[in-house]
Amino acid sequence: MARKKIIAGNWKMNMTPSEAVKLVAELEPLVKNDAVDVVYCVPAIDIVPVVEAVKGSNVQVGAENMYFEESGAYTGEISAAMLVDAGVKYVIIGHSERRDYFKEDDALLNKKVKKAIASGLTPILCCGESLEQREMGVTMDWIRFQIKSDLVDVTADQVKDIVIAYEPIWAIGTGKTATTEQAEEVCKGIRECIAQMYDQATADAVRIQYGGSVNAGNAAELFAQPNIDGGLVGGASLKADFGKIVCY
Ligand code: PEP
Repeated sequence: MARKKIIAGNWKMNMTPSEAVKLVAELEPLVKNDAVDVVYCVPAIDIVPVVEAVKGSNVQVGAENMYFEESGAYTGEISAAMLVDAGVKYVIIGHSERRDYFKEDDALLNKKVKKAIASGLTPILCCGESLEQREMGVTMDWIRFQIKSDLVDVTADQVKDIVIAYEPIWAIGTGKTATTEQAEEVCKGIRECIAQMYDQATADAVRIQYGGSVNAGNAAELFAQPNIDGGLVGGASLKADFGKIVCY
């Protein structure tokens, strides 16, 4: 069964609500490609206007984060129910910036993954090694650890529908892309890990993105790899180049 590619922009902490609406309008004619799923993962404050702005187009909206509790005294947090009610379909969980700057650990991320799934959101679960880990030769050990910890108590049927984003930390926002071979090798390793944890059918169904300095020039070669089912795109998702990536 062919997996539909999914190309998601991660806007990070960029774009005020009015800038966001302008960007959606500018990108609208450039990102028309029904052969792939297109997602804009946007800052929380941009969600409502961006959901409105993409109405009638092929673009779906994702959040960059959420909290796992249902509701209550968690000042500053946003719940899965709030995202669903606002029209959000996807949520990035465990981006390396959240793991690093906000000290989100795998136990917390596992709770977020389970809550997102239970609420009907599709998690885009991020994993990836540091440069030090790559140089030490422990890349796949580390990524298996992240995947196994983040998916505790998640069933095969649920895993089939999630998205996993392999994002080597040393390639994020640095302009340094992993080589096609490096990216494919790890995405293949992630699929093998899912096959071991669950079964081959689950591994064959799950979509695995590559992220890390994807741009208009390297997208086609990366997305042509057998185990790379699209990309999570930071910097290049904020400009017209995103259209070239989506229509690679
Ligand atoms: C990201 O933020 O997920 C990312 C991959 O960023 P960039 O494309 O800018 O490296």
